[in-house]
Amino acid sequence: MSELVSYDEAVAAFEPVLGLEVHTELNTKTKMFCGCQNSFGGEPNTHTCPVCLGLPGSLPSVNAKAIESAIRIGLALNCSIASWCRFARKNYFYPDMAKDYQISQYDEPLCFDGYLDVEVDGETYRVPIERAHMEEDAGKLTHVGGSGRIQGADYSLVDYNRAGTPLIEIVTKPVRGVGAKAPQVAKAYVAALRDILRSLGVSDVRMEQASLRCDANVSLMPWGSDELGTRTETKNVNSLRTVEAALTYEIRRQGAVLLSGGKVKQETRHWNENGYTLPGRSKEEAEDYRYFPEPDLVPVAPSREWVDQLRASLPEPPAQRRARLQGEWGLTDLEMRDILGADALELIAATVEAGAAPQAARKWWLGELNRLAKEADVELDAVGMSPVQVAELQALVDAGTLTDKLARQVIEGVVAGEGTPAEVVEKRGLKVVGGSALDDAVAAALEANPSAVESIKAGRQQAIGALIGAVMKSMKGQADAGQVRQLIMEKLG
Ligand code: ADP
Ligand code: MG
Ligand code: ZN
Repeated sequence: MSELVSYDEAVAAFEPVLGLEVHTELNTKTKMFCGCQNSFGGEPNTHTCPVCLGLPGSLPSVNAKAIESAIRIGLALNCSIASWCRFARKNYFYPDMAKDYQISQYDEPLCFDGYLDVEVDGETYRVPIERAHMEEDAGKLTHVGGSGRIQGADYSLVDYNRAGTPLIEIVTKPVRGVGAKAPQVAKAYVAALRDILRSLGVSDVRMEQASLRCDANVSLMPWGSDELGTRTETKNVNSLRTVEAALTYEIRRQGAVLLSGGKVKQETRHWNENGYTLPGRSKEEAEDYRYFPEPDLVPVAPSREWVDQLRASLPEPPAQRRARLQGEWGLTDLEMRDILGADALELIAATVEAGAAPQAARKWWLGELNRLAKEADVELDAVGMSPVQVAELQALVDAGTLTDKLARQVIEGVVAGEGTPAEVVEKRGLKVVGGSALDDAVAAALEANPSAVESIKAGRQQAIGALIGAVMKSMKGQADAGQVRQLIMEKLG
């Protein structure tokens, strides 16, 4: 572990400057430069061909759909789109890429000069985007024996299924003017980027499956200075929470180095899940990669008409959509913040779409379902109940078939895999009971509680609670309390 100063001490002395590089895998059907299936996982080395295995004599060709996705991403990030650009070879020797080079873009990115506005604590910060360029992913190495790293391993296995997956790398300009909020702005930026990519439908954006990866650069400089400090780049940042945690840690570590009169070393560091960063390899310089224009591919030259057409068909930006839904649903800022915090917006929107009232949809997703998801330690969308089923449940409540209390039991059943809400109601016998069974239960309760009856007749209305309680108990909760109250009042005149 390194020396640290407190976060407050570090940001009192220095202004943090951010640089965020986000890689995202595109969910095209096929790979970037060949016709192999582009999908996560699979039996190792089954989604491969001479092109993505880098066999001599094979030739790549560009996946038009990947270019289309890249342009749509660039447009959604307010970028300019190059009218002509080329791919570049980034040369390096490592067995995760059989060709010994990666096809990437260097000084001619497809998208450049954009920005993304993000909100933190009610304030808007503009994150300037330098470029969004295309490249291909490398294969996956598994080091066997030892600690799982290459050092000390007995042998390494390579799987080229992922080699050639289309990637977009989105790189910010140095982000200044965010001050002590730097880690939160970084987190909000990655979250906003994720929302945009999701709304475009171009990526699965699952950080835990590494389809969205972030390298977090940060440097410190004395307040008022105009010269950027030396940055470090932290890798392995694979959740929103870690973006914030890793940057907070690096600011404290660099602050300690600088305050004790030392110099920050420019290096790549790795985030360790136990809450600190460790130095990795020292960084290659661009010249080490011997970039040159890829001779096997023609330049990419999207027509203005195509770009305009893609621009016109962009979906509503997520931030705007959120504001619109909040208005339509009549929610307060606080309610909306809870929804976003629980990552429940899309689920609630789909539930409303399926016919439920917004407040009801919100109640189930943030209440019972959120609780069950936490209990099972899964994401809310993997809890085991679909938005359509939640709408179905609410329809049963609206129809008087279920009370809220019974509905919670139905949710438990659905999540446990017992079937649809209607099936669970049937199987578990959870229907609200009315009719003569309820009439009998009310009559029995009145007879068994004469003093409560007397009290009510004498005008002490609050005594009705005991009677309702008695009826609900004898009905095992399968009655509607409002209906019971009404029946009692009728019986007592
Ligand atoms: P590399 O290829 O070494 O990762 P890039 O230029 O691709 O370098 O990305 C570095 C990231 O760090 C970019 O987002 C860039 O804007 C940012 N950056 C560059 N210099 C600094 C600095 N001194 N402090 C903080 N961020 C920086
Ligand atoms: Mg980089
Ligand atoms: Zn292939």
